[in-house]
Amino acid sequence: MENSRIYKNKNASKNDTLFCQIEKLLDIPPVKLVSFFASQDNNNRPDWKDKYDVKYDLQGFYLNRKIESIIPNPWPEEIEAEIRSISASEHFVWISNAICNSSDIYMAWLYAHELQHLLQVLKNKYILIVSSLLDYAKYEIHEVDKPTEIESEITAKRIVTEIFGKYECESFLKNMKKTSRYNSIRYDKLLKLSVDSEFNVVKAVQKDICANKSHMKYIQKLWVDNELTDWDIDIDNLCNCQDPHRGIISSVKKR
Ligand SMILES: [Zn+2]
Repeated sequence: MENSRIYKNKNASKNDTLFCQIEKLLDIPPVKLVSFFASQDNNNRPDWKDKYDVKYDLQGFYLNRKIESIIPNPWPEEIEAEIRSISASEHFVWISNAICNSSDIYMAWLYAHELQHLLQVLKNKYILIVSSLLDYAKYEIHEVDKPTEIESEITAKRIVTEIFGKYECESFLKNMKKTSRYNSIRYDKLLKLSVDSEFNVVKAVQKDICANKSHMKYIQKLWVDNELTDWDIDIDNLCNCQDPHRGIISSVKKR
C-alpha cells in the first residue's frame, strides 16, 4: 500500500524531494505510512515535567497504528482533525512544527530517525513495546542510550552524512551541543557515534531488559496498574529465549 506525506507545514513542504530521497536511501517499502509534517508542536509532556522538571518538546514520533491504541499525550489538535485518515493508516510518523521550521539538516535527521523506528517494527513488530519498558528504568532523560534510539540515531547520522557530507553533519552536531546542558551531553554522544558499526538492536534490547529483570517486572506492573499499556510482557520468557527476535515476539500479548 502506498505511503503518503501530509504537509501542514509550508517550510517542510518545500523539502518534499529531501524526504523522498531519505525514504529511497532507507528503502522504505510501501506499507501505508503516513508522514505528518506539523504546524503545531506537542509540548510540555506532563509526565516529564513532574519527573525531571524540564520543559520537553516532542520533536517527532513513530506510531504503529495497527497495534498501538495508546497515543502520545498530549495529542496536537491538528492531528485530531485528521484522525479519520490517520486511523486508516498503518504506520504514522509525526515531525513537530519546531523541527519543520528549523534547518534542512535537522529535519532530515529527525525524519531518518523516525523512519528507522518504522524499519525496526517491520523487522520485529513488538520491539518498541518491549523497549518502552526501558524508558523510565535506566535511561532517564538521555534517550540516546536506549538500544532502539541508538539504532535510530546511527541511521540519522548515516543518512545526514550521505546527503549533506561529513563536515556539515559534524558542524550541525557541534552547534547543537552548545544549545543547552541537556543537548551538550546528548550531542556529544551523537558526535562519537560510529555509523559503520553493526548494531544488533534486538539483542541489545533483550540484554538491557534481562540485566534488571525484577525492576522491569515492577515497571511493567506499574504500567498495567495505571492503565498505561495495552500489553502484557512475559519477561521470564523473554530472558529465557536464546534467540532475541523470537524471545520478543513470543513474550508480548495484548491484554
Ligand atoms: Zn526515537
